[in-house]
Amino acid sequence: MKIQAINGFKDILPDSIGQWQYIEQTARDVFERFGMQEIRMPILEKTELFVRSIGAATDVVEKEMYTFGDKGITMRPEATASIMRAFIEHGLHVQQPVHRLYTIGPMFRHERPQKGRLRQFHQLDAEVIGAVEPRVDAELIAMGHMLLDELGLQVRLELNSLGCPVCRPPFKAQLIAFLEQKNEGLCDDCKRRTHTNPLRVLDCKKPACRVLVQEAPSLLDSLCPECDLHFGEVREALENLGIPFQINRFMVRGLDYYTRTTFEFLTTDLGAQAAVGAGGRYDGLIEQLGGPAISGIGFAMGLERIALLMEQQDANKLPASTMDVFLVALGGNTLAPCSQLAHALRKQGAKVAIDYSSRSLKAQLKQASRVNARYALIVGEDEWARGEGILRNMKTQEQQSFALTGSSDEQGLRLIEALNIAIQ
Ligand SMILES: [Zn+2]
Ligand SMILES: [Zn+2]
Repeated sequence: MKIQAINGFKDILPDSIGQWQYIEQTARDVFERFGMQEIRMPILEKTELFVRSIGAATDVVEKEMYTFGDKGITMRPEATASIMRAFIEHGLHVQQPVHRLYTIGPMFRHERPQKGRLRQFHQLDAEVIGAVEPRVDAELIAMGHMLLDELGLQVRLELNSLGCPVCRPPFKAQLIAFLEQKNEGLCDDCKRRTHTNPLRVLDCKKPACRVLVQEAPSLLDSLCPECDLHFGEVREALENLGIPFQINRFMVRGLDYYTRTTFEFLTTDLGAQAAVGAGGRYDGLIEQLGGPAISGIGFAMGLERIALLMEQQDANKLPASTMDVFLVALGGNTLAPCSQLAHALRKQGAKVAIDYSSRSLKAQLKQASRVNARYALIVGEDEWARGEGILRNMKTQEQQSFALTGSSDEQGLRLIEALNIAIQ
């Protein structure tokens, strides 16, 4: 019996790895232009970290975490809490006031698998810790926008403010009163959420709930003066940077720790409307986890969704992977010198393929085309006896003889010169 991967867990095969590497490299490149530094955390954390940060009454903590070891250990469902845990544990705030950190890696949630949603999924995560200024919010959002733009993607940016511990509780009370009045029309989930997590009712996807909440009070009308000022300055700073956005007063995000600015990068090109990336400010989180009273803002983007969307929107085409040379060794006594030459060429920076099975010339040239080799160097026993090989341009099929004299290092250097392979 064949053993297969677990449902919701997926291999990334060599055919698509080029795209993944391209996305990751573009992200590193863009993030580092903004002064971001990479951080890597373990995949396993104490369960308590996520209960205290994400919130006990959230879908993630209630139903979606992979928890074991007497429920004490959890596979991280997101990166922000882990970054904060590491930040506090190592006292990073003592070194400098503002930290810009990013990480790339797998996250785990026990959800129903569907297109673009896996149980092991991968995120790009960026956080700015220690800055309260609205311009920082705008700059971080602009960084996400720049990344998606450089990947060639078209997405819509939506923005909201979730207020703070001063203005959110009175709003919550007002919202609960409204929801209790409309209780009959709500879906079963929202009936329950009315008291556990009323804000989540605002972004319920069920049509009946969507209609009902149109009349719900808006948090944007209840912001305290500080939050109102902050939100105004974020919008102004985004306009200043030329980043288009829309206000969505129903956006609440699934995690409890968000305060003030929240945002999503959205697309309708993946079936139902989906977020490619999302994030927000979390001014109380670090203190809540036992750290100093400093604020933070961050976002996460889904690598699977970005990859799907790139295919869907026919975004930036990746250059096909190529080999510089395919060494065609024909016959027993050519194998040793050809393997030496391959080794010398690789040391010198060339990408080299070689077949040690002594298959026919025709079969090996076919393989050379399959791996996109630019050139083939054909070395038969007769040629080798004369100290030469045949160099074939795989595209034009032109052939010329090539001297194989001197050491393999010398042969390699001469070949590289002849092929003009750019070595970095
Ligand atoms: Zn407020
Ligand atoms: Zn609902």
